[in-house]
Amino acid sequence: MDSALAPANVDSVPLALNGATHAPSQTDSVLKNESVSENRGEAVKTNLLGLNRKAMEEYFRSIGEKPFRASQLLQWIHQRGTDDFAAMTNLSKSMRGYLTEHCEIRPPEIAHVQYASDGVIKWVLQVDATNRIETVFIPEEGRGTLCISSQVGCALNCSFCSTAQQGFNRNLSVAEIIGQLWVAQRELGRERRVTNVVLMGMGEPLLNFNNVVDATDLMMDDFSYCLSKRRVTLSTSGVVPALDRLGEVSDVSLAVSLHAPDDGLRNELVPINRKYPIKELLDACKRYIGTEGRRKVTIEYVLLEGINDSPAQARALGKLLANVPSKVNLIPFNPFPNSRYRCSSPETIAHFSEIVQKAGIITTTRKTRGVDIDAACGQLVGKVNDRSKRHFRLQAIE
Ligand code: SAH
Repeated sequence: MDSALAPANVDSVPLALNGATHAPSQTDSVLKNESVSENRGEAVKTNLLGLNRKAMEEYFRSIGEKPFRASQLLQWIHQRGTDDFAAMTNLSKSMRGYLTEHCEIRPPEIAHVQYASDGVIKWVLQVDATNRIETVFIPEEGRGTLCISSQVGCALNCSFCSTAQQGFNRNLSVAEIIGQLWVAQRELGRERRVTNVVLMGMGEPLLNFNNVVDATDLMMDDFSYCLSKRRVTLSTSGVVPALDRLGEVSDVSLAVSLHAPDDGLRNELVPINRKYPIKELLDACKRYIGTEGRRKVTIEYVLLEGINDSPAQARALGKLLANVPSKVNLIPFNPFPNSRYRCSSPETIAHFSEIVQKAGIITTTRKTRGVDIDAACGQLVGKVNDRSKRHFRLQAIE
């Protein structure tokens, strides 16, 4: 069974995690896995877009070249945004010829683009014959945030998220994850830069562990996008063992989708809670940020009218987070077709926020952006050829 498909229900999540944990090393992937593409049965080319520094060095070693070539290639690909080896003028002519023959720089293709009235841009990207993902650029005063996807669809089935309705197909490769940033930066041109990346698009990043770590490494590499760890945020619904592992290998900022102050309600809203309940999750958050130099964890809390927005629940949230170095980001619920929830009123949100703040926790409310093009949180759907048999899965859970 394809382990990437495993999280068809909550019980099978660890299987997926094992799959991710024991996935091939970067080196393996350079030589035979996702970075190598078939060109309609002709030559097999290595897609250098998906190689982080270590993998790129390994590639050059494997062809008898000096590993420092990796830095040059990373700069050309990610800083200059080129996909043409012939333009890489600090490489010898023969090296350029070799790379043209054996390699490629192949991002996902843009299927279409939508522009919202508030400046938000949504790219729908074709990742293979049957699947599309979505990437969203959110411009703000002094910064530009790119919200990227980590999987085609999502298997976690959170009841308030439209991506869950689509089911799940597969993990994105490193090239497909970093390719979203590559494409966005190229399309935005020189005037507008991506200053922040959030892994808050389609998918659960920690269930695509190795590829997400390699892609975020590239985002933070001095020879690539050079984003500081404060500007790369991974949002997770709480895959606890993977979160611990992340703490060992990465430095990204962490956001956690909590959405409820007690296990009973969280089991309903975020079903993975049945596997990793709130206490285990918050303990893992503490371990993650306990490491020197890390900041607070951002606790995401979507406000659903009459479900999780009462003053008592706000007080419970404040209490729960008393010993967790955290800040709370309240997210007004964004509706989608057939969703069973409504967004709390602005007054309820303001009151909820006030109570949590009074408990001593910095609390912000996320501005809803890009709503007119369905680009807001939880509205990303792409086009997913569902392989997870969602109907069976729902029957199993309900
Ligand atoms: N799987 C990851 C990242 C994707 S979702 C996670 O769960 O964190 C990114 C954020 O948007 C999460 O906090 C998610 O709970 C929230 N979200 C999902 N659907 C939403 C909706 N309809 N309205 C508002 N926020 C939503």
